[in-house]
Formats: sequence, C-alpha cells, structure tokens
Amino acid sequence: MSSVSREELGRVLEYFKSLGIKSIYLEKDIETMNNRQFGSKEKKKALEHLRVNTIGDCKRCDLSEKRTNIVFGEGDPDCEIMFIGEGPGADEDKQGRPFVGRAGQILTNLIRKMGYERKDVYIANIVKCRPPQNRNPHTEEAQTCIPFLKEQIKIISPKVIMVLGNVPLQNLLGGDLRITKARGKFFELSGIKVMPTFHPSYLLRNPKDKWLTWEDAVAVLKYLGKDVNDQPSK
Ligand code: URA
Repeated sequence: MSSVSREELGRVLEYFKSLGIKSIYLEKDIETMNNRQFGSKEKKKALEHLRVNTIGDCKRCDLSEKRTNIVFGEGDPDCEIMFIGEGPGADEDKQGRPFVGRAGQILTNLIRKMGYERKDVYIANIVKCRPPQNRNPHTEEAQTCIPFLKEQIKIISPKVIMVLGNVPLQNLLGGDLRITKARGKFFELSGIKVMPTFHPSYLLRNPKDKWLTWEDAVAVLKYLGKDVNDQPSK
C-alpha cells in the first residue's frame, strides 16, 4: 500500500466524518485479531461495524427480496466455539436470530450438553437471509455472503468451529466433501480447527444419529481440554 502523509490522511478522515462515518477499521486490525489478543469489547465493536457499516441493508443478492430480517449471527464475540449452519429458516427470518426454531432446539441442547449456554458460543450461517422454501443457498448467494462470515470468523477467532451439515462443509472446506464421511475428523480453516457434524434438522429426522454428533462434540471438548460427560444430547 502506498504511504500517505498525516495531512492527506486527516483530509480523508474529515471526508469520512462528513459522510457520517464515525469509525473505521483497517484490514490489518482484523488480521491482528487472529492472534487472539483482542478482548470481547474490541471484537463486539468490530462485529457491530461489520453488521451496520459493511453489510447494512444488504441487497447484494436475490435473497434480500423476500427476507424479513438479516440474521447476522449471535453469541459471545470472544468465544472458544463457533457453530455454522446453512441459512435462516422461517422462525429465524421472523426473529432475526439464528437457530431459534425446532432445529435450533436440538442445537441448543447440544450446546448445553457440552457445558455451555448459547450466550457462551457464537452461532452463524453461510447465508444471512432466508432461502425461499428453505432450499439450499445457490452458489452465487453463498459466494456473496461468505466474505462477511469470514470476517466474523476472523474477528471472533474461535478455537474451534463446528460446521453443521453439507452446506457449510462444502462452502467452507471443499465442494466434494460429504458430511457422512467428513464428520468426526478435524479440518483446518485459516489456522482454526474445524469439526464437521450433522445438521440439527438431519438429527430431527434421524435422532438415532445424535450419538455420532455427540462423539464429534466430545472430540471438540477434548481438543479444548474440557471434562467430558459422555451422554448424548436429547
Ligand atoms: N437451519 C440453519 O442452518 N440455520 C438456522 O439458523 C436455522 C436453521
């Protein structure tokens, strides 16, 4: 990047101020956050900035046309574990919060079983607006939204990400992966451990496989050095 003088920088910042922009963060700041040296307050601010100033009233893809709310994600910006699903359903679209419907109850039970509350982890999705009829997001929709999710991951810098089902697995780790084969094995994304497991909606239809998801959660807890209670979640 070419260097600018203090005066030039001052003029640019004055210009931003005149446009109503109250704070900026530089790409370098976000990179540094990967070092996990920033606390909750700074991360919360960076996430707010991303939500309000960068994403705003997003109209970058067709999903914006029918959405009620953008579902940005929620939880502790300084958490150890982040969960990533595919996209909001009807309940999430209505409330503007991730995983609050029936599948959300399964996820909430798993989080509790792991020894956390929802407020202790961070929950987000591949796309932030509801795909019609809960279809999988199209490639262009996912590709448009993922840079924002990647910013969230960089800011939060969790120790582990659990990806829930094929959609986040394939969009974040590789299109030819399948959840049935990939679950239970650690992958890596920008230096962060990633554990794929079944999507909670799949577990609603196949409750007997909750044991497998619990095994994946146990591997995560062991990686984090936590004590493990070995009952499956309800
Ligand atoms: N399914 C998802 O993948 N995400 C949600 O937020 C809700 C249901």
